[in-house]
Amino acid sequence: MTPKALLHAAEIIHEARHGGDWGISTGKVAVDLDALRAKKDGIVGQLTGGLVGLAKRRKVEVVRGTAKFTGAQSLEIDGKAWTFDQAVIAVGSAPVRLPGWPDDDRVWDSTAALELREVPKRLAIVGGGIIGLEMATVYAALGAEVTVVEFMDQIAPGADAEAVRILHAALEAEGITLHTGTKVASVKPTKAALVLTCEGAFEGEIRADAAIQAVGRSANGGKIAAETAGVEVTERGIIPVDASCRTANDTVFAIGDVTGNPMLAHRATHQGHVAAEVASGHAAALDTDLIPSVAYTSPELAWAGLTPTQAKERGIAHKLASFPWAASGRNLSTGGGDGLTKLVYCPDSHRVLGATIVGRNAGELLAECVLAIEMGATLEDIALTVHAHPTLSETVAFTAERALGTLTDL
Ligand code: NAD
Repeated sequence: MTPKALLHAAEIIHEARHGGDWGISTGKVAVDLDALRAKKDGIVGQLTGGLVGLAKRRKVEVVRGTAKFTGAQSLEIDGKAWTFDQAVIAVGSAPVRLPGWPDDDRVWDSTAALELREVPKRLAIVGGGIIGLEMATVYAALGAEVTVVEFMDQIAPGADAEAVRILHAALEAEGITLHTGTKVASVKPTKAALVLTCEGAFEGEIRADAAIQAVGRSANGGKIAAETAGVEVTERGIIPVDASCRTANDTVFAIGDVTGNPMLAHRATHQGHVAAEVASGHAAALDTDLIPSVAYTSPELAWAGLTPTQAKERGIAHKLASFPWAASGRNLSTGGGDGLTKLVYCPDSHRVLGATIVGRNAGELLAECVLAIEMGATLEDIALTVHAHPTLSETVAFTAERALGTLTDL
């Protein structure tokens, strides 16, 4: 959640800087880092305080300490023995640390980056996944010269390539340097800078005042002696679960990042509901195939269901339709910049199989598509639903109309 508060600050800065396009000038934008940090900490405090309140109202006792399993239905917390009828493991994940990097205060993981200690003049970010790109958005807005190094051929690997190109261009337009197909071969700490030597599409050195490692997270399953409880833990610290979130031990459930990818909060919450229901004797399961992904960058990139590449790789018959946001009245009238809504659909049944949206508020707009995929909705269902005008949500209906050949807005 913390990054969302900082991403909102980045958006305020962005809007203020671009006010001139609308004849509104606010002068040079100044950032009071202490005030921003205090605002962010206040929001985090409010949210975590809210969770404590929710637990209290439900008479949940919270015990603070480090837990380790000692048997199939027992564990200890800081040395004190506990027994349980059923347990849920929700120990999450930790940032992956790149091997061979120096132990240096200027090397941050995502947690350190969110502390907002300072705005480095030159910031290198290794990893162009969701965390790397969100951090790039925040720190570039705060005034850092940001360079992202991504190993794969595109940033946000796995997302629709055409949509990613739009995000890539927008980030570059904000002054962020993006090196894809590149890896950091070595890092040398000197007094003046961290010197990152890169290999691949970009060969050369990056000199940075701080570097963020955003190369994924590893599951924490190996840290709680779960095997003692008969729970399987993979080499990578992942605890495999079935659709009911049950582990290899029938009385122990696992939810969230510790159960592997996608490591997303909304998946964890749904798994939590499933585990609680199954533990209380109800039938429940989670279809993990349809978990939306959102990068809260500027613009946002959001997708769910099949991407065109996945449909092709899996040999699934499909067609694509898209609607460019240059033709969206709402986008134009709010200075939204470039954007795209794209649907992947079945050519025979017209059912929607996947959706990708890049543009302002894409994360919010995606919900309609997720519901459509979940409900087995067809292009006709979407196109014949009256969407309010002018809204960005119309782009979803326009995409469906374009697929059906009934679009009059393009
Ligand atoms: P990620 O796996 O999404 O991205 C890591 C990126 O680093 C990948 O693109 C990978 O190719 C690249 N990489 C790996 N090793 C590299 C190397 N040596 N050099 C250069 N690039 C390298 O991981 P993340 O961005 O760290 O995020 C971790 C998890 O947290 C993910 O599951 C993510 O979805 C989740 N998360 C989600 C949100 C959100 O939903 N908005 C926000 C934060 C985190």
